[in-house]
Amino acid sequence: MSDASLHIVTYHYVRDLPRTPFPRIKGMLLSDFEKQVDQLRGAYEMATLDSAVAFLNGTYQPSRNLCLLTFDDGLKEHFAEVTPLLHERGVQGIFHVITGCLEERRTAPVHMNHFLMAKLDFKKYKQSFFSEMEELTGEAAEMPVFDPEVVRNTYSLDTQPIAEFKYFFNFILESGLRDRVVTRMFETHLGDPASFSDGLYLNWSEAKQMQAAGMVIGGHTHEHRPLATLPEEQLEVDTKLCRDLLRKRLGEQPLWPFCYPYGRQNSFNPAAVRSVQREGFDCAFTTVTGLNQPGTDLYRIHRVDCNQAWISQA
Ligand SMILES: [Zn+2]
Repeated sequence: MSDASLHIVTYHYVRDLPRTPFPRIKGMLLSDFEKQVDQLRGAYEMATLDSAVAFLNGTYQPSRNLCLLTFDDGLKEHFAEVTPLLHERGVQGIFHVITGCLEERRTAPVHMNHFLMAKLDFKKYKQSFFSEMEELTGEAAEMPVFDPEVVRNTYSLDTQPIAEFKYFFNFILESGLRDRVVTRMFETHLGDPASFSDGLYLNWSEAKQMQAAGMVIGGHTHEHRPLATLPEEQLEVDTKLCRDLLRKRLGEQPLWPFCYPYGRQNSFNPAAVRSVQREGFDCAFTTVTGLNQPGTDLYRIHRVDCNQAWISQA
């Protein structure tokens, strides 16, 4: 079949949300995940990273469309729930870990923000976030005005005020100040970020067990910052550290994938792509929506969010 395509699904939180302490976290229910995997298995040939890359290189011609499952951020449930479910079905998952979270017990600011938003009333959270900023800098702080189109494209699944805050938080606010503000708020409302990280992320030993179960581990940077916002030197330090830790802490893999944090066009640039290539990652996933065909750039692979990956029954 010459017109086959490769459909890649992106997952983040996969959990029984109503039964967790943070039911307002945005994610997929485990039961929906199970249904979706079975639906996808019925409709596609489930790819491995090897077969997906061979397809993109034009050396493998499948008889059906391919589907590959990817999981971002190295969350605990990817080890505890997702891996057993996939292993039982003989399906390979690709799991992108933030090496700083595993190595240094850090909770990534992007996740501190998710859990604070899930715990507090959004308006109050935003207000106290700005007051904390003012207290730390001694200057008045307010939300800049953004192009609503850019904000919507970056966070298409959120309401406008939440998308705007996330955009400000992850892309605009100086990261040193941002990290101090969010850490202070996290400590006040949710406790010690290091202990929290133990429950939020999988650890190196779990990642090795996932490799032994046929899963592939990939890099998702060391600090989970939008690579396009980093000066070239920091960009290189981050991707190198990520790559070195994967090599040092894990078993061998024929291919090492990478996944850009945030992953829209405004979060990776040519310098980021070069840095990922230089470190020897074999391919890189974006969150730019779309399918992939032979010839698709291996360092700009398209994916589809799991909420948009249901197959219509019509
Ligand atoms: Zn991520």
